[in-house]
Amino acid sequence: MKLEFWGVRGTTPVSGKDKNKYGGYTLCTSVFTSEGEWLIIDAGTGLKKLGDCLLSQGGEEPLNLHILLTHFHLDHIIGIPFFTPLYSPKITLNFYATCSPEETEKYLSGLMTGRYFPLDFKKTPSIKTYNEIPEEDFHIGKTRISHCPLHHPQGNVGFKIQEDNKQIVYATDTEHPEKGLDKRLVSFAQEADILIYDAMYTPEEYESGRRGWGHSTWLEGTKIAREARVRELYLSHFNPDHSDEQIDEIIALACEKFPQTQGAREEVKPVL
Ligand SMILES: [Zn+2]
Ligand SMILES: [Zn+2]
Repeated sequence: MKLEFWGVRGTTPVSGKDKNKYGGYTLCTSVFTSEGEWLIIDAGTGLKKLGDCLLSQGGEEPLNLHILLTHFHLDHIIGIPFFTPLYSPKITLNFYATCSPEETEKYLSGLMTGRYFPLDFKKTPSIKTYNEIPEEDFHIGKTRISHCPLHHPQGNVGFKIQEDNKQIVYATDTEHPEKGLDKRLVSFAQEADILIYDAMYTPEEYESGRRGWGHSTWLEGTKIAREARVRELYLSHFNPDHSDEQIDEIIALACEKFPQTQGAREEVKPVL
């Protein structure tokens, strides 16, 4: 499996010379499986660049893409209207979410209706399927997909992508419990090769008025990583106000607690 980060910023896209190292696009991550399937987790503004790359590499070939949506907050879906594969009749977009197919279509098309956008989502030329994620694990080719509910306003899920004996766990947009760890997430991430976790706040920021906002800290990420005995921790969903320098400091502090910590960065491509 090849993992690739296309957007690692939470809440809103940002730009500026102090944001270039980690990047300013909102959440979008891809996993390219050994069978050649594209799994895309979240569709924030990072999705645009992924779409452009896929079309430039694929030429005129039909392409089947699988888009796993964790939830429908704007930072996780706002890339969809600007995703060039949406406008190609040779592309099939298979959307997966934990709500009914009708609701998924309604939320996505809501981005491109009325006065919000000049084109109608439902009339775009790509072929689309909407899939409600079942309670139990499901497969895309040989790749097994599991999900885990997280603590976030209006609900959210984390995903686990497993191929052969390799596992990637994606868990952004989650708030840690007041005491102890989220046991369900610890068990879900047990011995994963890579855990991607929500590092929206520093512990100090969290304690000064961010409790109940549905996000976590780098410190909680290191605790989960240690308890779950994951191989590598990638912090992500970075605060739009944090500069590269601040994120570097966060990663350095996190490494003191859990040495195999890295910052997710656009264009970083770990291969498992
Ligand atoms: Zn978010
Ligand atoms: Zn959210």
